[in-house]
Parts: sequence; C-alpha cells; structure tokens
Amino acid sequence: MRLYNTLTRSLDPFAPQDGSTVGMYVCGPTVYDHLHIGNVRPVLVFNAFRRYLERFHGWRVVYVQNVTDVDDKLIQRAAETGESVPALARKYTDAYFALLDALGVDRPSASPRATEHIEEMIELISCMVKTGAAYVRDGDVYFRVSRDDEYGCLSGRSLEDQEAGSRVEVSDRKENALDFTLWKAAKPGEPEWPSPWGNGRPGWHTECVVMSRKHLGERLDIHAGGNDLVFPHHENEIAQARATSDKPFFRFWLHNGMLHMGEQEMHKSLGNFRYAYEILEKHAAETVWYFYLSRHYRKPLDFSEEGLEGAAAAVGRVRRLLDDVDAELRGSAAEPGTAGREFLDRLGAFRERYVQAMDDDFNTVGGLGVIQELVNEINRFRAEARDDDRCALRAAAELVRELGYPLGLFQPHVQTGRDSEAELIALLIELRAELRARKEFALGDRIRDRLAEIGIVLKDTAQGTIWKSEAP
Ligand SMILES: [Zn+2]
Repeated sequence: MRLYNTLTRSLDPFAPQDGSTVGMYVCGPTVYDHLHIGNVRPVLVFNAFRRYLERFHGWRVVYVQNVTDVDDKLIQRAAETGESVPALARKYTDAYFALLDALGVDRPSASPRATEHIEEMIELISCMVKTGAAYVRDGDVYFRVSRDDEYGCLSGRSLEDQEAGSRVEVSDRKENALDFTLWKAAKPGEPEWPSPWGNGRPGWHTECVVMSRKHLGERLDIHAGGNDLVFPHHENEIAQARATSDKPFFRFWLHNGMLHMGEQEMHKSLGNFRYAYEILEKHAAETVWYFYLSRHYRKPLDFSEEGLEGAAAAVGRVRRLLDDVDAELRGSAAEPGTAGREFLDRLGAFRERYVQAMDDDFNTVGGLGVIQELVNEINRFRAEARDDDRCALRAAAELVRELGYPLGLFQPHVQTGRDSEAELIALLIELRAELRARKEFALGDRIRDRLAEIGIVLKDTAQGTIWKSEAP
C-alpha cells in the first residue's frame, strides 16, 4: 500500500517495520471543551484507517492517542468558569470518551495523560539543556532552534523564511523568535510541578515525543493528526526527537485536511463552529461516518446539512437492501444454482477493487464507490434471480458488511437507527429533561423505562443525555 507522507512529500510504500505490528500515534484532544466537528475528522479517518490495516492487511495496530490535560487553554477556561483545572480536564475527558462511544469509534490501545508523564518530560528537557539544544531563562526553558540544521524538514520552511514571515510573538527572553517553550515557569494559581528550573509545567510539544516513545517503543511507524499541526507542533516534536536520540523518529507523517463552513475554514476563533454532539442529536453515527469518509482525507471537507442528508440517504439505501436480504433469506440454506454461482464469482472483483482504492493512500471515496456499485449489482441480481439462486445473496450481504466495517458502516450490531428515529428520540430526551426540570420525575422515568423496553438506553452525562440502541 502507498501513503502520502508529509515528511517526504511523496506517496511512499508502507508496511510495518517488524512486518506484523503497526505503531500509530494520533495527537489527541486538549480537554478544555467538547470536541467540535473539525476535531471529529481525524478521529474517524484514523480509526477507519486502523480498522482497515487490521482487517484487510492482518496487521496488529497499537493505536496511541494522548489526552492533553494541562495547557494554557485549560488554565484560561478554568479561570473563566471557576472550576479547578483537574476537574475541568476530567469533565471533558469523560465527554470525549462518551463521544467516541456514541460515534462507535474504537477506544485507543492507550490514552496517556500529559499530567501522568511530567517526570519523563522533565528528563527529556534536562537532556536538551545539558547538550545545549535548549536553554533556561528565569525558570522557562526554550528549544534553541538555531542549533538544529534540519529544523523545517517536515513543514518545508527554511529558518530564513520563517524568521522573515514570522508572526511568532517576539520576546526578549528568547534568543530567536522561533525558539519554542519546553517548560513554563509557574504563575500564581496555575498547576505546577517541581523541576530543576523551579516549579512550572511542560509545554505541549514535549508531551507527544515522550508519550509516543514510551507507549510505542521502537514501533514508530505512523504519526497522524490534522494538517494544522504540521507547523509548529509536529515540526517541534521532530526537532526534540532529533536533539535527544540518534534513533529515527516516526517514518510516516499523515495529515488530514481541514473542515470548511461555507467559504471559510472552520475555527473556534472565528466562531463558525458546531459541537460534534450536536450533529449526533440529529444524525445516526453511521451517517456521520459516511459523510466524513466520502471525501479524501487530505482534501478540505465542506460541512453542510445537505451533505449529511445525502450521506443519510446513501446509508439508508444500503441498509434497506441488507434488511430485505436478511428477511428474505431467514432459514434458507440451500446451495445456489449456476446463475447464483456465477454471481458469487463476480463478487471477488469488488473486494479486489475496494482494496486497490484503500491501498492507494487510503482512498475511502473509491472504497465507498465500490460498495455502491456492489449494491447495484446485488439489486440487479435480486430482480432477476430464481428462487434456488437467491441464497447467494447471503454471501453478497456479508461482503457489503465486510467492506463497510473499516468505514464504520453496515454492521449488524451498530445503531441502525434511521435519522427520523434519531430525531424522535432526541424529542423524547428533550421532553424528559423538561419534565425533570419541572420535578415531574415519575413521568420522566416512564419515558426512560419505556425506551429501555424497546432497546433504547438513555445515559445522563455531563454534557446532556445520550442514547444508545441495544436492539439486536
Ligand atoms: Zn501531538
């Protein structure tokens, strides 16, 4: 398979270094707020990628995603809300995992927290101070960019370019405007840890170097994240890795494109964003997967309600076919006749073409196209097939599910709710909240209990009530 590697700017052949296990690190959330819909893209794309590697290449994937639970944004938010930083971090870490569950995303193999790795970060920074790769100023520690000849290798920016066009905040404490913070001296009221340079806290760029090495060891195959992280975050990770070890850091750097809202890139700072859980109030998780994967991961994705509705329609079409086939074939187990066997022979080509697309820089657009063509083929066969050939449809439906699995689609056990069903449940949740606000708890409980009877389980969380379908 080939993957576009930001580091080499080319499509490079990929296989795990040890031939069997892929070590993958995806930069995780800073837990100061709910995830917005832009943050959901890497979550879905790289989870799909992980499933594909496991299911279609047979590789084991160790998937590490950090949780940044100490950071400027968290400290600022805590000051605004009056909560403590750890309480705030806990709340949004829980909300993050609840969202992964609601989306049907697999939990990472490891979810290391920054605050659990402070000692290792101090060790790494000490090593850089000792060699002169970093320097100390009044309790702050900075990385000395001028000592690193290869700085800019990932983002393709030369030091001169960067200095000329630099909007990096100039500080007379730093030798160079591009030098970045490794350790921040504590300010009153902020979380702090003791260090050789006084009390303080580590900078964001250091945590991913420490945690990826610790949890992946030598398996540094793929480092992934949004393309807004290429510079400075990933560039700075590579610089620290180079300054502290002769061993190569990650071989492949994968970056997803940004989400657009209308003409603009979506950014929290522009105010044109929506929270991910808001989308799930209206749309089934499967629809959300389909929508995000219907555009190549490196390209920008235009977010729109029409796009989501289109995805819901595409998913619904396949779901109806699978439901019909399941119902038709219940109990039938005969061997198909000639026409049925010929139909089965044709199916292999769909799987091959799907793998070809996905192996080509994880082309999920091509993969989804193959699934839709397969569905057309199945519908054609269904329209003409004689009774004794119909049992061939079972293998065809299984193939649809097999190809859909990495993309979060068409599984028998995932939430099969149609969007109108999701809307109805959202309405009931709203009514129940209203009843509870009026202290009519018995009525509220009745809604919850009756939904549970039909397999819809409500769960009250910090960010509101979520639901899950447990129907068979
Ligand atoms: Zn990172």
